[in-house]
Amino acid sequence: MMNLRRLILCAIGGCFLVSPLLAAVEWQVIKINGRDFLSVDNVARFYGFPNPTINGKNVDLNNGKNEMQFHIESREMLLNGVRNWLSYPVFVHDGKIVVSRIDLANTLEPQLRPNMVQKLGRVQTVVLDPGHGGFDKGAISGYGYEKDYALDLARLLRPLLQAKGFRVIMTRESDVFVPLELRARIANSTHDSIFVSLHFNATDRDPIATGFEIYSLTPRGAPSTYEDGLTLASINIQNGTEADAASVELSSCIYHSLLGQIGEFDRGMKRARFAVLRLTKIPAVLVEGGFLTERGESRLIANPEWRKRLADAICAGIDNFRALANTKKPPLVMADYRRQKTGSAAPEKESALNPVAPPTLSLDMLYSVRPAEHSAPLQTPTPSPIGTAPVEP
Ligand SMILES: [Zn+2]
Repeated sequence: MMNLRRLILCAIGGCFLVSPLLAAVEWQVIKINGRDFLSVDNVARFYGFPNPTINGKNVDLNNGKNEMQFHIESREMLLNGVRNWLSYPVFVHDGKIVVSRIDLANTLEPQLRPNMVQKLGRVQTVVLDPGHGGFDKGAISGYGYEKDYALDLARLLRPLLQAKGFRVIMTRESDVFVPLELRARIANSTHDSIFVSLHFNATDRDPIATGFEIYSLTPRGAPSTYEDGLTLASINIQNGTEADAASVELSSCIYHSLLGQIGEFDRGMKRARFAVLRLTKIPAVLVEGGFLTERGESRLIANPEWRKRLADAICAGIDNFRALANTKKPPLVMADYRRQKTGSAAPEKESALNPVAPPTLSLDMLYSVRPAEHSAPLQTPTPSPIGTAPVEP
């Protein structure tokens, strides 16, 4: 057993303060195969949730302020109605449902108590990073290239953000190739800033895959969403920055706004070691605004009005993050946006944890698996007819 303060301090490397109000609950760390876990009951007590309700494999917690649903033997969970991918599955050990300490510290804590995230800093500048460019076309649909859609989305976002008083810097303003390392350097040369990389998705494994997803950097010592276990390569390329918890919260702010305002499929808040996330020292996220390999979604993405809706939703999410960072105002969650939209009670929660297809490997995953990727540009996929997935290089 170890006291709460030490646990949390150890868990995220000392960049975190614990509210003295909550210090009455002891953390009881359970060691399993050398890794630290906490019981869900312990987590519930700490955050003031009533006892969890167990329904088959679903474990529900709701304290009126936050809502969580774990799924036993799964890395997927819902946090305030939005899918989150944990580093390790939740499972039953000695009659207790347990969650890993890495997930508690890096995924649950920043979202359950966003106003306690350290190093939020002030936010005045947004570095917009339209993915790909030049010879690197990114994903391809029957209507166009990812690089063009990403640039257009950034151009739509810029004036929206400027109208809200943000200073906006773009890593590219035209159809040129910008190395990933340079994108990160541009971000790191700014201060009081955040980094938002804009992409559209593609896969050759599941032609009907649709929906939004968003990435922040994988916690140190944990597998990324697409990895089953921790690999040596992923440990070796891991830096981890003081902005990690802020990045998760930025990811949450943007993602809740996207899903709250646009009803696309919720693929979840994910983790990867993409170069632009690893190399940036400021809060950084990568947004995937739908699939170019799915017929219906590729048509939507090709529509400028649709991209304007994406821009509006991302802008609102960024604005919420700034309000949290600058004034500690709690960010809106998906249900709040939906209430705003309908002017009435939030609709029934539509996402339930049951079965989601295994994560679809996207083209952009290539960015996370090659440590030297910033100097080795992506090969351009061969253009393919509508409805046929491009082939991964
Ligand atoms: Zn991309």
